[in-house]
Amino acid sequence: AELARRIDALLRTVPDYPEPGVLFRDIMPLLADPDAFAEVVATFATDVPGPVDLVAGMEARGFLLAAPVAIALGAGVVPVRKAGKLPGPVATQSYALEYGSAAVEIQPSTIPDGARVLVIDDVLATGGTAAATVELLETCGATVVGLAFLVELEALGGRAMLPGRFVDSLLTLP
Ligand code: 5GP
Repeated sequence: AELARRIDALLRTVPDYPEPGVLFRDIMPLLADPDAFAEVVATFATDVPGPVDLVAGMEARGFLLAAPVAIALGAGVVPVRKAGKLPGPVATQSYALEYGSAAVEIQPSTIPDGARVLVIDDVLATGGTAAATVELLETCGATVVGLAFLVELEALGGRAMLPGRFVDSLLTLP
C-alpha cells in the first residue's frame, strides 16, 4: 500500500494522449526517481511465485522494467517486440485492437523448451498485448509463471483476459 501510494504520486496523468479521449498514465517520473525505481524492481523480484529463467518485457517501456528485474532474479531477458523489428526467425502473434490489429514477435531460438518466463509491462489496460504475449511464449514452448505490471487500469478489464494467471500489479487504478 505504501509503494502503491508512492507510484501513484509519481505518475503523470496526461489527457488526450496519444489520441483524443485517452487518459494516459506516464511512468517516466517514476523511472527518474532512483529510490522508487529500485523499490519497484525489488518488489517485482520478490513477488514472483517461483523460479524464473527469463523475463519477457513488452516494447518499449516493458524493456526498462524487464532488464533490472531479470538481473535481480538471475534470469535472462526476452524482448517482445512489435512486428518487423527483430531479425528472423521470429514467431508472431496477432491480436485485435479497437480499430484494426497489431502483432507481437519474439525469437523462438532464445526460449529453451519449458523455460519459466515472467512477463512484465508498465501498464495493463485491455489486456490484449499481455494475452497475445502469453499465447506467443507458450506456442514457443515456454511456461509462463506469471505477469507483472506497475499499473493496472481496472476499468479496462485486462485481468479477465488472463484467466487463471498469476497477475501482480503494484498499483490498481479504478
Ligand atoms: P492493452 O493491450 O492492455 O490494452 O495495452 C497495454 C499496452 O499499451 C502496454 O504495452 C502499455 O504500455 C500501453 N498502454 C496502454 N495504456 C497506457 C497508459 O495509460 N500508460 C502507459 N504508460 N502505457 C499504456
